[in-house]
Amino acid sequence: MSSPPDAGSSPPAAVRQDYEALVAEIRRHDELYYQRDKAVITDAEYDGLFRRLTDLEARWPSLAGDDSPSRQVGGAPVPHLKSVAHRRPMLSLSNTYSRDEVLEWHQRVVDFLAGKLDQLVFNIEPKLDGVAAELIYEQGRFVRAITRGDGKTGDDVTHTARTLVGLPRVLRTDHPPALLEVRGEVIMTHADFAAVNAAREVAGEELFVNPRNLASGTLKMLNPVQAARRPLSFKAYGLGVVEGWQPSGHAQMLQTLEDWGLPTARELALSGSLDEVLAQHEVLRSGRDELLFDVDGSVIKLDDFALQARLGERSRSPRWAIAFKFPARSGRSVVREIQVQVGRTGALTPRAVIDPVHVGGVTIEHVTLHNPDEIARLGVKVGDAVFVERAGDVIPKITAVAESGGGPAFVMPEACPVCATPAVADDEEVVVRCPNRTCPAVMRRRIEHFVARGALDVDGMGSKLVDQLVETGLVTRLSDLFALTAEQLSQLPRMGEVSAANVVAGLVAARTRPLGRFLFGLGIRHVGDHMAELVASRWPSLTTLRGVSVEELEDVAEIGPRVAQSLSAWLADPDEQAELDRMLSLGLVPAVPAPPAASDGPLTGRTFLFTGALSELSRKEAGELVKSAGGRLLSGVSKNLDVLVVGEKPGSKLKKAQELGLEVLTEQEFLTLVGR
Ligand SMILES: [Zn+2]
Repeated sequence: MSSPPDAGSSPPAAVRQDYEALVAEIRRHDELYYQRDKAVITDAEYDGLFRRLTDLEARWPSLAGDDSPSRQVGGAPVPHLKSVAHRRPMLSLSNTYSRDEVLEWHQRVVDFLAGKLDQLVFNIEPKLDGVAAELIYEQGRFVRAITRGDGKTGDDVTHTARTLVGLPRVLRTDHPPALLEVRGEVIMTHADFAAVNAAREVAGEELFVNPRNLASGTLKMLNPVQAARRPLSFKAYGLGVVEGWQPSGHAQMLQTLEDWGLPTARELALSGSLDEVLAQHEVLRSGRDELLFDVDGSVIKLDDFALQARLGERSRSPRWAIAFKFPARSGRSVVREIQVQVGRTGALTPRAVIDPVHVGGVTIEHVTLHNPDEIARLGVKVGDAVFVERAGDVIPKITAVAESGGGPAFVMPEACPVCATPAVADDEEVVVRCPNRTCPAVMRRRIEHFVARGALDVDGMGSKLVDQLVETGLVTRLSDLFALTAEQLSQLPRMGEVSAANVVAGLVAARTRPLGRFLFGLGIRHVGDHMAELVASRWPSLTTLRGVSVEELEDVAEIGPRVAQSLSAWLADPDEQAELDRMLSLGLVPAVPAPPAASDGPLTGRTFLFTGALSELSRKEAGELVKSAGGRLLSGVSKNLDVLVVGEKPGSKLKKAQELGLEVLTEQEFLTLVGR
């Protein structure tokens, strides 16, 4: 008679022998496959061996050491990295250095959920300073890894992710979800970072500036055997698309991922009330230097996934989480020169050239001083010793003058340093601008923005080529780009026929980029990538957009008056419209954006406005409900409004709506309409 073994008991010697033979066999095939690029068994046969291994480990857990093949994975070299779209965008988190702002965020969460939930549970975990990536498991097997990239599209790094220390190739469960996209941070410990750099120093190679850069560089190597020499690990903290598993909250999710063999930073995480979470933040902060890896703050998340879904996201960050960053690190340097740069909008921006100083893992040689007011506020002059501060990806800044060098005060030039056009002050802002639309410096920046990855994404259009195009006068306005010929380009220095043809091909492809990206690329003031996409989804062709009035723009709740004014000024500017006509005559045909996913909801095609005090919903949640059901929110009562939803004490908007004969609903009627 045999009894089922318990987790702590040791297996019989025969089982151990079998197991060890199996491990040796799998290792042999791994080596053949990954290092000699030679497979002697089929994938199915390999999978069979692997299943036997994991079955034995499930039955006799004491067999599996950290070096078990089930916890280690190899990889095959790739010719180049492929771009892969994330099934669900990888959002970034809004972040703050201020405890008050964390409290405000908490209040917004409570308000959005209509204040009815006084016992909200939050999670806190360290904000790891590494490379965000998504690992995909199908039927429990690791199949792919993608870097975060721009959040929508990342690089396929499956081959190097296989070398992540302790990453299971097969999830330790008999019932894995059909699809698991697990997100987390790829990091390197301080000790491993120091060891890699020490070896590079001996070899006379350039050193990596910090573990994050090293992790990123390693993950993007083409040869996984080289990548495997630099130990990286992965810590899970979130999910992408999942099929066949539905955890109820963040803490439960982390626990289950760990049970399945996926490493998390849960040993440093804690759930509780906001007070407990803030206390834990202090613990993390005071102990940050003792941690094995770089941590630049903590991440606070609402635990309950159903509530997270209700909160949703704003622009590109979820409302249910915030990163609370640790105070910046600082260094001391000396200002050698104050230069004036000309930006894309013509803004003249002073920047300090300083003696190179090492702060928070990077070397800083230039620091923006923003504008003359900021220089006056700091009292900084050439020759001064200054404190320089930097944290994470934040732009370095001078926080104070440490010691005056007695140099002369900075004077803002009265003319553009590049084209000598007299500069003009801007009424709205403190900046001074070069008003010359054809200023070479402005043109350079505008072209760079126009052809950048998030805009028209023109291959082969580097900053050297942009400089040449402006210097030779081949491009004096954006539309000139579409008139460029391969013959013109190939006459530029250092430009062969093949490169010239590539650039022309890139410009052909650029003509049909999505409308939102084209609008963003034009660099219309206050119209960032998100706003450009929003405008393009509302008016999906240049023809409809060109007929839009400022009132129609302002009617869209997400478009503020500043953006509406700026867009209508652009639409009314004859020079800008002549540019657009010329681009159209040169073959510009922006792709029509796909209609928003929620456009087939119960409110499709109708516009809504809320007034008075709502009892069930907060204003924000009400607005989100309208959008997710396919409707649109307006900002005021007008003939463009279809439905006014009224709460307690509705006031003048109700009266106006009745005068216009609009449909009026109570909050309850609205909830019924959206099926809540
Ligand atoms: Zn200029």
